[in-house]
Amino acid sequence: MIYHLEFRLYSFPFTTPLVTSHGSWEIRSGIILKIWAEPQKVAYGEIAPIPWFGSETLEAALEFFQGLPSQLTHEEIENIPDRLPATQFGFSSAIESLEFLKNPPNPFQNANFSYLLPTGKTALNAWQKPWQDGYRTFKWKIGVSAPEQELEQLRQLMNSLPLGAKLRLDANGSLNLAQAHLWLQECDRLNIEFLEQPLPVDNFQDLLTLAEKYRTSIALDESVATTAQLEACYAQGWKGIYVIKPSIAGYSDRLRSFCRSFNIDAVFSSSLETAIGRTQALRLAQELSNPQRAVGFGVDQWLNISSKALIQQLWQEP
Ligand code: MG
Repeated sequence: MIYHLEFRLYSFPFTTPLVTSHGSWEIRSGIILKIWAEPQKVAYGEIAPIPWFGSETLEAALEFFQGLPSQLTHEEIENIPDRLPATQFGFSSAIESLEFLKNPPNPFQNANFSYLLPTGKTALNAWQKPWQDGYRTFKWKIGVSAPEQELEQLRQLMNSLPLGAKLRLDANGSLNLAQAHLWLQECDRLNIEFLEQPLPVDNFQDLLTLAEKYRTSIALDESVATTAQLEACYAQGWKGIYVIKPSIAGYSDRLRSFCRSFNIDAVFSSSLETAIGRTQALRLAQELSNPQRAVGFGVDQWLNISSKALIQQLWQEP
Protein backbone atom coordinates (compact mmCIF):
# COMPACT_ATOMS: atom_id res chain seq x y z
CA MET A 1 0.00 0.00 0.00
CA ILE A 2 1.26 3.48 -0.89
CA TYR A 3 0.09 6.44 1.20
CA HIS A 4 0.06 10.05 0.10
CA LEU A 5 1.04 12.51 2.77
CA GLU A 6 0.56 16.21 3.43
CA PHE A 7 1.11 18.06 6.67
CA ARG A 8 0.50 21.47 8.22
CA LEU A 9 1.79 23.20 11.33
CA TYR A 10 -0.67 24.71 13.78
CA SER A 11 -0.37 27.00 16.78
CA PHE A 12 -3.16 28.11 19.13
CA PRO A 13 -3.04 29.99 22.43
CA PHE A 14 -4.76 28.36 25.40
CA THR A 15 -7.77 30.25 26.77
CA THR A 16 -5.60 30.95 29.83
CA PRO A 17 -2.03 29.74 30.40
CA LEU A 18 -1.71 26.37 32.13
CA VAL A 19 0.46 26.79 35.20
CA THR A 20 2.37 23.74 36.45
CA SER A 21 5.60 23.29 38.39
CA HIS A 22 7.30 23.21 34.96
CA GLY A 23 6.22 26.82 34.36
CA SER A 24 3.49 28.54 32.41
CA TRP A 25 2.35 26.90 29.15
CA GLU A 26 0.65 29.34 26.83
CA ILE A 27 0.57 28.01 23.27
CA ARG A 28 -0.26 24.58 21.88
CA SER A 29 1.70 23.98 18.67
CA GLY A 30 1.78 20.80 16.65
CA ILE A 31 1.43 19.17 13.27
CA ILE A 32 -1.66 17.82 11.53
CA LEU A 33 -0.98 15.19 8.89
CA LYS A 34 -3.32 14.15 6.12
CA ILE A 35 -2.93 10.69 4.67
CA TRP A 36 -4.73 8.74 1.96
CA ALA A 37 -4.29 5.68 -0.21
CA GLU A 38 -7.38 6.35 -2.32
CA PRO A 39 -8.52 9.94 -2.85
CA GLN A 40 -12.00 9.37 -1.41
CA LYS A 41 -10.63 7.88 1.84
CA VAL A 42 -8.68 10.56 3.67
CA ALA A 43 -7.64 10.46 7.33
CA TYR A 44 -5.90 12.91 9.64
CA GLY A 45 -3.46 12.49 12.46
CA GLU A 46 -2.00 14.85 15.04
CA ILE A 47 1.49 15.27 16.44
CA ALA A 48 1.10 17.16 19.71
CA PRO A 49 4.46 16.97 21.49
CA ILE A 50 5.11 17.96 25.11
CA PRO A 51 8.91 18.11 25.19
CA TRP A 52 9.17 19.09 28.89
CA PHE A 53 7.22 15.93 29.63
CA GLY A 54 9.42 13.54 27.71
CA SER A 55 8.29 13.58 24.09
CA GLU A 56 10.22 14.90 21.11
CA THR A 57 10.23 18.63 20.38
CA LEU A 58 8.07 20.06 17.62
CA GLU A 59 11.29 20.95 15.79
CA ALA A 60 12.47 17.32 15.84
CA ALA A 61 9.09 16.13 14.53
CA LEU A 62 9.11 18.79 11.83
CA GLU A 63 12.61 17.86 10.75
CA PHE A 64 11.44 14.26 10.38
CA PHE A 65 8.47 15.36 8.25
CA GLN A 66 10.64 17.52 6.05
CA GLY A 67 12.82 14.49 5.28
CA LEU A 68 9.85 12.35 4.22
CA PRO A 69 8.80 11.74 0.62
CA SER A 70 5.24 12.74 -0.32
CA GLN A 71 4.42 9.04 -0.81
CA LEU A 72 5.03 6.49 1.94
CA THR A 73 4.90 2.73 2.36
CA HIS A 74 3.44 0.94 5.39
CA GLU A 75 6.97 -0.10 6.26
CA GLU A 76 8.18 3.48 6.46
CA ILE A 77 5.30 4.32 8.78
CA GLU A 78 6.10 1.33 11.00
CA ASN A 79 9.75 2.36 11.29
CA ILE A 80 9.55 5.83 12.80
CA PRO A 81 12.35 6.00 15.41
CA ASP A 82 11.42 5.61 19.09
CA ARG A 83 12.84 9.05 19.83
CA LEU A 84 9.71 10.45 18.06
CA PRO A 85 6.81 8.99 20.14
CA ALA A 86 4.28 11.76 19.34
CA THR A 87 5.06 11.30 15.64
CA GLN A 88 4.55 7.54 15.97
CA PHE A 89 1.15 8.21 17.55
CA GLY A 90 0.15 10.71 14.84
CA PHE A 91 0.86 8.28 12.02
CA SER A 92 -0.51 5.15 13.68
CA SER A 93 -3.74 6.83 14.72
CA ALA A 94 -4.22 8.28 11.21
CA ILE A 95 -3.78 4.78 9.74
CA GLU A 96 -6.27 3.40 12.27
CA SER A 97 -8.72 6.13 11.32
CA LEU A 98 -8.31 5.10 7.68
CA GLU A 99 -9.11 1.53 8.62
CA PHE A 100 -12.11 2.36 10.80
CA LEU A 101 -12.88 5.39 8.65
CA LYS A 102 -15.54 6.56 11.04
CA ASN A 103 -14.80 6.95 14.72
CA PRO A 104 -17.30 5.27 17.02
CA PRO A 105 -19.50 7.74 18.87
CA ASN A 106 -17.84 9.10 21.98
CA PRO A 107 -19.41 7.21 24.90
CA PHE A 108 -17.95 9.52 27.53
CA GLN A 109 -20.06 11.97 29.48
CA ASN A 110 -18.85 14.75 31.74
CA ALA A 111 -19.18 12.41 34.73
CA ASN A 112 -16.47 10.19 33.15
CA PHE A 113 -14.03 13.08 32.75
CA SER A 114 -11.71 14.53 35.35
CA TYR A 115 -12.03 18.31 35.12
CA LEU A 116 -8.70 20.13 35.30
CA LEU A 117 -9.03 23.06 37.72
CA PRO A 118 -6.92 26.19 37.38
CA THR A 119 -3.78 26.19 39.53
CA GLY A 120 -3.68 28.06 42.84
CA LYS A 121 -6.55 29.57 44.78
CA THR A 122 -8.56 30.31 41.61
CA ALA A 123 -9.61 26.65 41.87
CA LEU A 124 -11.78 27.53 44.87
CA ASN A 125 -14.25 29.29 42.59
CA ALA A 126 -13.77 27.21 39.47
CA TRP A 127 -15.45 23.87 40.31
CA GLN A 128 -19.04 25.14 40.68
CA LYS A 129 -19.90 25.50 36.99
CA PRO A 130 -18.38 22.15 35.95
CA TRP A 131 -20.11 20.51 38.93
CA GLN A 132 -23.44 21.81 37.57
CA ASP A 133 -22.42 20.44 34.16
CA GLY A 134 -22.08 16.95 35.62
CA TYR A 135 -18.36 16.67 36.37
CA ARG A 136 -17.65 14.76 39.59
CA THR A 137 -13.87 14.29 39.48
CA PHE A 138 -11.51 17.26 39.63
CA LYS A 139 -7.78 17.61 39.32
CA TRP A 140 -5.63 20.29 40.87
CA LYS A 141 -1.95 21.02 40.13
CA ILE A 142 0.35 21.44 43.12
CA GLY A 143 4.03 22.17 43.68
CA VAL A 144 3.79 25.68 42.26
CA SER A 145 3.86 27.78 45.46
CA ALA A 146 4.93 27.13 49.06
CA PRO A 147 3.56 23.80 50.42
CA GLU A 148 2.01 25.41 53.54
CA GLN A 149 0.03 27.79 51.36
CA GLU A 150 -1.09 25.08 48.95
CA LEU A 151 -1.99 22.67 51.76
CA GLU A 152 -4.21 25.39 53.26
CA GLN A 153 -5.85 25.94 49.87
CA LEU A 154 -6.34 22.18 49.56
CA ARG A 155 -8.20 22.08 52.90
CA GLN A 156 -10.42 24.96 51.76
CA LEU A 157 -11.07 23.26 48.44
CA MET A 158 -11.99 19.95 50.10
CA ASN A 159 -14.28 21.82 52.52
CA SER A 160 -16.12 23.51 49.70
CA LEU A 161 -16.49 20.54 47.31
CA PRO A 162 -19.89 18.83 47.60
CA LEU A 163 -20.31 15.29 48.85
CA GLY A 164 -19.63 12.90 45.97
CA ALA A 165 -16.86 14.98 44.45
CA LYS A 166 -13.45 13.38 44.00
CA LEU A 167 -10.18 15.26 43.91
CA ARG A 168 -6.86 14.10 42.49
CA LEU A 169 -3.62 16.08 42.80
CA ASP A 170 -0.75 16.44 40.37
CA ALA A 171 2.70 17.58 41.52
CA ASN A 172 4.36 17.12 38.09
CA GLY A 173 7.43 15.68 39.79
CA SER A 174 8.12 18.82 41.78
CA LEU A 175 8.22 17.65 45.42
CA ASN A 176 11.18 16.52 47.47
CA LEU A 177 10.83 13.46 49.68
CA ALA A 178 9.97 15.39 52.87
CA GLN A 179 7.30 17.41 51.04
CA ALA A 180 5.89 14.24 49.49
CA HIS A 181 5.39 12.75 52.98
CA LEU A 182 3.69 15.95 54.12
CA TRP A 183 1.31 15.90 51.14
CA LEU A 184 0.54 12.20 51.43
CA GLN A 185 -0.33 12.47 55.13
CA GLU A 186 -2.81 15.17 54.21
CA CYS A 187 -4.08 13.16 51.23
CA ASP A 188 -4.78 10.19 53.53
CA ARG A 189 -6.63 12.44 55.93
CA LEU A 190 -8.71 14.15 53.22
CA ASN A 191 -9.43 11.08 51.13
CA ILE A 192 -7.76 12.31 47.96
CA GLU A 193 -8.30 9.96 45.00
CA PHE A 194 -4.59 9.88 44.09
CA LEU A 195 -1.43 11.94 43.95
CA GLU A 196 0.20 12.13 40.56
CA GLN A 197 3.99 12.09 40.14
CA PRO A 198 5.03 13.52 43.54
CA LEU A 199 8.75 13.01 42.86
CA PRO A 200 10.93 13.45 39.77
CA VAL A 201 11.25 10.63 37.25
CA ASP A 202 14.70 9.53 38.47
CA ASN A 203 13.46 8.89 42.06
CA PHE A 204 11.76 5.63 41.16
CA GLN A 205 12.83 3.75 44.31
CA ASP A 206 11.45 6.50 46.56
CA LEU A 207 8.19 6.46 44.59
CA LEU A 208 7.93 2.70 45.24
CA THR A 209 8.53 3.27 48.96
CA LEU A 210 5.93 6.05 49.16
CA ALA A 211 3.38 3.88 47.36
CA GLU A 212 3.69 1.23 50.07
CA LYS A 213 3.51 3.60 53.01
CA TYR A 214 0.26 5.49 52.34
CA ARG A 215 -3.36 4.60 51.76
CA THR A 216 -3.62 7.23 49.02
CA SER A 217 -2.67 5.78 45.64
CA ILE A 218 0.23 7.25 43.74
CA ALA A 219 0.10 7.65 39.99
CA LEU A 220 3.09 7.78 37.68
CA ASP A 221 2.77 10.23 34.81
CA GLU A 222 6.06 11.84 33.71
CA SER A 223 7.73 8.51 34.64
CA VAL A 224 5.62 6.73 32.01
CA ALA A 225 5.41 9.26 29.19
CA THR A 226 6.12 6.63 26.52
CA THR A 227 5.12 2.97 26.22
CA ALA A 228 8.79 2.01 26.56
CA GLN A 229 8.90 3.75 29.97
CA LEU A 230 5.57 2.15 30.89
CA GLU A 231 6.99 -1.29 30.19
CA ALA A 232 10.13 -0.50 32.18
CA CYS A 233 8.23 0.72 35.28
CA TYR A 234 5.97 -2.31 35.15
CA ALA A 235 9.00 -4.61 34.93
CA GLN A 236 10.47 -2.83 37.98
CA GLY A 237 7.37 -3.61 40.03
CA TRP A 238 5.10 -0.57 39.90
CA LYS A 239 1.66 -1.59 41.18
CA GLY A 240 0.10 1.86 41.49
CA ILE A 241 -1.73 3.92 38.92
CA TYR A 242 -0.36 4.65 35.45
CA VAL A 243 -1.42 7.93 33.82
CA ILE A 244 -1.22 7.35 30.08
CA LYS A 245 -1.10 10.14 27.53
CA PRO A 246 -1.62 8.24 24.26
CA SER A 247 -0.70 11.27 22.14
CA ILE A 248 2.92 11.08 23.30
CA ALA A 249 3.15 7.37 24.15
CA GLY A 250 4.23 6.10 20.72
CA TYR A 251 2.59 3.58 18.39
CA SER A 252 -1.02 2.85 19.40
CA ASP A 253 -0.58 -0.89 18.81
CA ARG A 254 2.33 -1.20 21.19
CA LEU A 255 0.35 0.68 23.87
CA ARG A 256 -2.70 -1.49 23.23
CA SER A 257 -0.80 -4.73 23.49
CA PHE A 258 0.91 -3.64 26.72
CA CYS A 259 -2.38 -2.61 28.35
CA ARG A 260 -4.10 -5.80 27.23
CA SER A 261 -1.28 -8.04 28.44
CA PHE A 262 -1.15 -6.71 31.99
CA ASN A 263 -3.89 -5.82 34.40
CA ILE A 264 -2.80 -2.27 35.19
CA ASP A 265 -4.73 0.57 36.80
CA ALA A 266 -4.59 2.95 33.80
CA VAL A 267 -5.94 6.48 33.72
CA PHE A 268 -5.86 7.78 30.16
CA SER A 269 -5.25 11.46 29.88
CA SER A 270 -5.14 14.38 27.45
CA SER A 271 -2.01 16.03 26.10
CA LEU A 272 -4.03 19.20 25.45
CA GLU A 273 -4.19 18.27 21.79
CA THR A 274 -6.76 19.50 19.26
CA ALA A 275 -9.93 17.53 18.52
CA ILE A 276 -8.14 15.41 15.92
CA GLY A 277 -5.70 13.82 18.37
CA ARG A 278 -8.26 13.95 21.15
CA THR A 279 -10.78 11.78 19.28
CA GLN A 280 -8.12 9.16 18.65
CA ALA A 281 -6.75 9.32 22.19
CA LEU A 282 -10.32 8.92 23.51
CA ARG A 283 -10.83 5.89 21.30
CA LEU A 284 -7.88 4.25 23.08
CA ALA A 285 -9.15 5.47 26.46
CA GLN A 286 -12.50 3.84 25.78
CA GLU A 287 -10.75 0.54 25.05
CA LEU A 288 -8.06 0.57 27.72
CA SER A 289 -8.60 3.04 30.58
CA ASN A 290 -9.80 1.74 33.97
CA PRO A 291 -13.60 2.29 33.76
CA GLN A 292 -13.76 2.83 37.55
CA ARG A 293 -11.81 6.08 37.23
CA ALA A 294 -12.53 9.30 35.36
CA VAL A 295 -10.30 9.85 32.32
CA GLY A 296 -8.13 12.98 32.25
CA PHE A 297 -9.82 14.65 29.32
CA GLY A 298 -11.83 17.38 31.11
CA VAL A 299 -9.73 20.08 29.44
CA ASP A 300 -12.01 21.71 26.85
CA GLN A 301 -11.81 24.90 28.89
CA TRP A 302 -8.14 25.30 27.81
CA LEU A 303 -8.39 24.50 24.11
CA ASN A 304 -11.50 23.68 22.14
CA ILE A 305 -11.17 23.56 18.35
CA SER A 306 -13.29 21.20 16.29
CA SER A 307 -11.62 18.89 13.76
CA LYS A 308 -13.68 20.38 10.97
CA ALA A 309 -12.72 23.98 11.72
CA LEU A 310 -9.09 23.02 12.10
CA ILE A 311 -8.91 21.15 8.78
CA GLN A 312 -10.73 23.94 6.96
CA GLN A 313 -8.34 26.48 8.38
CA LEU A 314 -5.16 24.52 7.68
CA TRP A 315 -6.05 23.29 4.20
CA GLN A 316 -8.28 26.24 3.34
CA GLU A 317 -11.01 23.93 2.23
CA PRO A 318 -14.58 25.18 1.93
MG1 MG B 1 0.27 14.68 35.41
